[in-house]
Amino acid sequence: MNTDGSQQQNPLVKVSNVTKYFPVRSGVFRRTTDFVKAVDGVDFDVYTGETLGLVGESGCGKSTLGRAMMYLDPPTSGTVDYDGHNIAEMDKHELKALRRKIQIMFQDPFSSLNPRMPVGETISEGLIVHKLAGIKQRKGIVTEMLQKVGLHENHAIRYPHEFSGGQRQRIGIARALVTEPSFLVCDEPVSALDVSIQSQILNLLTELKEEYQLTYLFISHDLSVVEHISDRVAVMYVGKIVEIGDRKEIFENPRHPYTQALISAAPIADPRKKRNVILLEGDVPSPINPPSGCSFHPRCPIAEDICKEVTPKLINVEGTTVHRAACHMVPGAEVGLAL
Ligand code: SF4
Repeated sequence: MNTDGSQQQNPLVKVSNVTKYFPVRSGVFRRTTDFVKAVDGVDFDVYTGETLGLVGESGCGKSTLGRAMMYLDPPTSGTVDYDGHNIAEMDKHELKALRRKIQIMFQDPFSSLNPRMPVGETISEGLIVHKLAGIKQRKGIVTEMLQKVGLHENHAIRYPHEFSGGQRQRIGIARALVTEPSFLVCDEPVSALDVSIQSQILNLLTELKEEYQLTYLFISHDLSVVEHISDRVAVMYVGKIVEIGDRKEIFENPRHPYTQALISAAPIADPRKKRNVILLEGDVPSPINPPSGCSFHPRCPIAEDICKEVTPKLINVEGTTVHRAACHMVPGAEVGLAL
């Protein structure tokens, strides 16, 4: 087993020291005066067949990282390897083939569906772009996909505004799966849905993962959703991964104070059970000018002087091979100090 909780040796997707900076322009000449460091030096692997949950507060860089991994917004620096191949070095044809294998589901399926296009045409677009089926086969494939996601074949001729939020997300899933991808980035796919519909969509994603042998990066700010669906969990704060590991380890033995605070604030289904909620003071810092050293130090209840000066590295949590955290107070952290 690997130190970040994963079981295999060769990752399907390897993210190495990825950054994504956006320029801040000001003045009459719109000169670049600073950068929003949305993703700031991230390393992790995603293994075939797993669901890696990526969790953190709004604005921490989760969605930007997901888009950078797909090269929808290429990283500023660092590399993303898919199945052992650096995406940045792929030619036009390889990139097109990759687009078929990596798909994305968005939080708001309504704005990601063309309101003037019947859903059958929306779903079959991937078949046309990637030349996967002739005109006669497309109708049958669209019908099959609609049924797989719990819709009816008659829905193919309807328009997005005729569907509920949950149904639109099912259409989004059908559109993503029609090209037979291996890797699906699910970007807050249930955040806009009612709780009862959320569980239906999560169960559908779980079933389809088994059936199509998919690998998921599941991005969410909702810890209970991530706990339900993930095999491993990565916690993000101000553009960096601060903790990563096996789901059970992260939820039962969180080591980073930020993860501990997030878990303590998550609601519990049983009203008889109570948690000691850790209240964090202050706001999430600006990614334009993050705090020095550990960017969590202004809010951390156990911060010491070293935290203001030295950025902690992700290191193995002592006594386990399935868990890593970036905190100076984790035993053994001195091994991983990074300026
Ligand atoms: Fe808190 Fe310091 Fe650990 Fe950062 S490195 S989480 S500030 S104790």
